Amino acid sequence: MSEGFPQAARAALADTQLRRNLAGATATIRARRAAAVAECDDWQELRDAAEAIKTRTMARLPELLEMLETRVTEAGGTVHWARDAAEANAAVAAVAAAHGADEVIKVKSIATDEIGLNEALAARGVRAFETDLAELINQLGDDWSSHILVPAIHRNRSEIRRLFARTIAKGRPLTDAPEELAEAARVYLRERFLSVPMAVSGANFAIAETGAVCVVESEGNGRMCTTLPRVLVTVMGIEKLLPRWRDLEVFLQILPRSATGEPMSPYTSLWTGVHPGDGPEEFHLVILDNGRTDVLADELGRQALHCIRCSACLNVCPVYTRVGGHAYGSVYPGPIGAILTPQLKGLHAAPTLPFASTLCGACLEVCPVKIDIPSVLVHLRGRVVRETRGRVTREGVMMAAVAKAFGSRRRYERAQRLARLGHGPLADQVMGRWTAMRDLPEPPAQTFRSWWRERQG
Ligand code: SF4
Repeated sequence: MSEGFPQAARAALADTQLRRNLAGATATIRARRAAAVAECDDWQELRDAAEAIKTRTMARLPELLEMLETRVTEAGGTVHWARDAAEANAAVAAVAAAHGADEVIKVKSIATDEIGLNEALAARGVRAFETDLAELINQLGDDWSSHILVPAIHRNRSEIRRLFARTIAKGRPLTDAPEELAEAARVYLRERFLSVPMAVSGANFAIAETGAVCVVESEGNGRMCTTLPRVLVTVMGIEKLLPRWRDLEVFLQILPRSATGEPMSPYTSLWTGVHPGDGPEEFHLVILDNGRTDVLADELGRQALHCIRCSACLNVCPVYTRVGGHAYGSVYPGPIGAILTPQLKGLHAAPTLPFASTLCGACLEVCPVKIDIPSVLVHLRGRVVRETRGRVTREGVMMAAVAKAFGSRRRYERAQRLARLGHGPLADQVMGRWTAMRDLPEPPAQTFRSWWRERQG
């Protein structure tokens, strides 16, 4: 899907309603984030600490993951290792089958969207109900997420009212008021929370030292899913690990500020294995690779695994805020999607995404874990050219010629004379798309060298 970013972006740009929805919502979130960050005196120190913890974690990942497995097992949980989406889906489906569950409730989880869990469960006769309001809107509308944090950001209230009136609130009077829309969803979901025997969650963090798993959210649906059903299955990517309990202190400060512009999330749920008489009777942790170890092997690209999915980079990106998430053709949209998706799926599957950015650096400025997205984009662009094009490109020929010209004084001076002669329509022909959007600077009438020679007589 993501092969067609330029085409998809062009179509999105023509949708004025979408652009209006995106502009309004991202401007609001940007302002809230800026205010929340401004009141935090040690923001830069927190970012440094978060970056250091993530870097150290990646360096010791195998050992820490095994520690997590040991702690979860000691606490009464069961760990499943999944190399890819098929193995992860099979593990979740096997738990559902073992409990005769034909329905599961879900907390918003991008990892399960990445592996297509809902579709895989449906193929085995198990229906998954999304319980996050925005995810529910997407599910009811047969739509998919366009933002990491606000998956239905492309929809406005009137569209949601019309959707609810057709589906979960048929025959009920409904206005565009947020509280009425939320109440309609609440009535629909409450019944599921109380009757469905199994829940599936993602994880924001998992602690190797203790085996604890952490989910942060704003609606309380996550708390319901992780406490009410008899069985809980968590699907987490290997990169969600933190070594120590005290590391959470850093991330629980930077995540809500960067995500929703709040000093702390309304609901922070933590659980370790199972506790008789308190919460689910059975806990399963599916630890997912699905391309992550390949990302880890790339020295520069691996920082994409530091991402805590706060979505701050999306809200400041001049590309994302105009085209929205669907154009990226991936569950990871925006600047982080532009570097994560091609690495997870392989460059051949998403060769246009590393080019879906202006390289303005706004994403790096706001990223709470200091992922240098612009540098990774440039690195991946180089890899796309080297690894996927596999043929002589106009750009490659031009660069080789430039390298040759710069290699000797005589050739360089001759190139300067030619540039003056060939400037204009001829240069446009040679430069191709380089000059489609920008003007080639006009060469000076006299070069410095010839001026110097004249001056010296
Ligand atoms: S790359 Fe940084 S800013 Fe973007 S979602 Fe990830 S952590 Fe947030």
